[in-house]
Amino acid sequence: MKDTMPPPVAPEAILGALSRIKDPDLGRDIVTLGFVKDLHITGDNVSFTLQLTTPACPVRDQMKEEAHRAVLALPGVHTVAVTMTAQVRATKSEQKDQLVPLVKNIVPVASGKGGVGKSTVSANLALALAQLGARVGLMDADVYGPSIPTLMGAGAPPTQQQGKILPAVRYGVKIVSMGFFVPKGEATIWRGPMLAKVVDQFLGGVEWGELDYLLVDLPPGTGDIQLTLCQKIPLTGAVIVSTPQDLAFQVAEKAILMFHKLRTPILGLVENMSGFECRHCGQREDIFDSGGARRYAMASNLPFLGAIPLATDIRTTSDAGCPIVQSRPEAPSARAFLRVAENLAAQVSILNMGGVATERPEPAEITQPSPSGVRILWKDGHDSVYTGYALRVGCRCAQCVDEMTGQQRLREASINREVSPLAIDPVGRYALRFQWSDGHSTGIYTFEHLRELCPCPSCAGKVQEESGNVAQYV
Ligand code: ADP
Repeated sequence: MKDTMPPPVAPEAILGALSRIKDPDLGRDIVTLGFVKDLHITGDNVSFTLQLTTPACPVRDQMKEEAHRAVLALPGVHTVAVTMTAQVRATKSEQKDQLVPLVKNIVPVASGKGGVGKSTVSANLALALAQLGARVGLMDADVYGPSIPTLMGAGAPPTQQQGKILPAVRYGVKIVSMGFFVPKGEATIWRGPMLAKVVDQFLGGVEWGELDYLLVDLPPGTGDIQLTLCQKIPLTGAVIVSTPQDLAFQVAEKAILMFHKLRTPILGLVENMSGFECRHCGQREDIFDSGGARRYAMASNLPFLGAIPLATDIRTTSDAGCPIVQSRPEAPSARAFLRVAENLAAQVSILNMGGVATERPEPAEITQPSPSGVRILWKDGHDSVYTGYALRVGCRCAQCVDEMTGQQRLREASINREVSPLAIDPVGRYALRFQWSDGHSTGIYTFEHLRELCPCPSCAGKVQEESGNVAQYV
């Protein structure tokens, strides 16, 4: 009860409370990261803005809630208003600043060979980033077969203004493609100097305006053409697209090695055509195997951005000029693209903010020993085997736990003992998202939380010691 006027709270106390909240991608607290802006204290009313490094942050709402709760808990605070914004940080590069000063990040999408869905992934990622609130461009540099105009339904060649090319704009994404300049079917032999000129034209000669992310659909392969392009374009880091069976042939590795040679960081791997998703029942089947890219990424210490299923509607929507993220954003495959986009944006932020500062537990391998079981082998050698039920009832999402009080909302008795994960996707490099057989899919399980849920006797004992309670989920 507040029966006397509380003293106004000091800004230091507010920043102190907020400094206990960490950005899970960057592993540092939100005060040190400079996210807290416009702090105003009027009597016992507090307002501030949290400025994140990308609008595509999957835990944006969670961070808002945490900040709200932390400040509201301070003595002398009656109301708290938190505004969320984002400002994408730019890659520092002199070359980029000369050519395209207003473009913050240039991200090539590459593959070891053609036909793996690189252009499809580029287009859908561009649309997903735009949908999440970013300013996005898509440059189709695939000199062999520029398919972006068809995929994005952008047929008309771009116009010029004061000697500069104005990009076509489709579904909020700015597009420039080789396809706009080369007549259809005309065989083009591209040589180094000619390519270099085209790249200059595509970057400096285009009125891109302010962009957070410019995705570049590279030609498939790792030959001279790709090298010339990558040397000419000031890149933030690369996305590598692979199909599951490619990895067996180490084709994707060639692309990775090319970027290593160019000293361009790898932002992550995308596994495309990972498991077949039936359009009638939504059931998945691993025709070409799946999980190869995830295993490869973990073994090579590269970020895994996510898996995209082999789905008929991904192809048909692209053929119709309106990719699935735009035409059917609620479809499971569209949501898979959105998750990859969030993870990509997180990796760009990590790179531009100087890396992750954390000693959090990290999985080395995630497998399903049985349909309802999950096994995580951790990088420190620890082995955790969970039942689907234990993980399901351990969900801490807003539907399952009251965000304000931390009290469990989920009734454990309402959960089927046989509940099983249908899909397990990475969230940045700090968490997993489970899609459960009972339809629940909103929970993000941080690695720390998964480690806390480990039912092995030594972990369960620790939980018991810390909480004075018997571990619940053994
Ligand atoms: P690349 O750019 O690697 O040559 P494309 O993006 O042009 O490959 O894709 C090749 C073909 O595969 C296209 O017909 C495309 O619609 C289809 N495709 C790509 N990804 C998927 C997917 N996940 N599911 C179904 N079809 C796909």
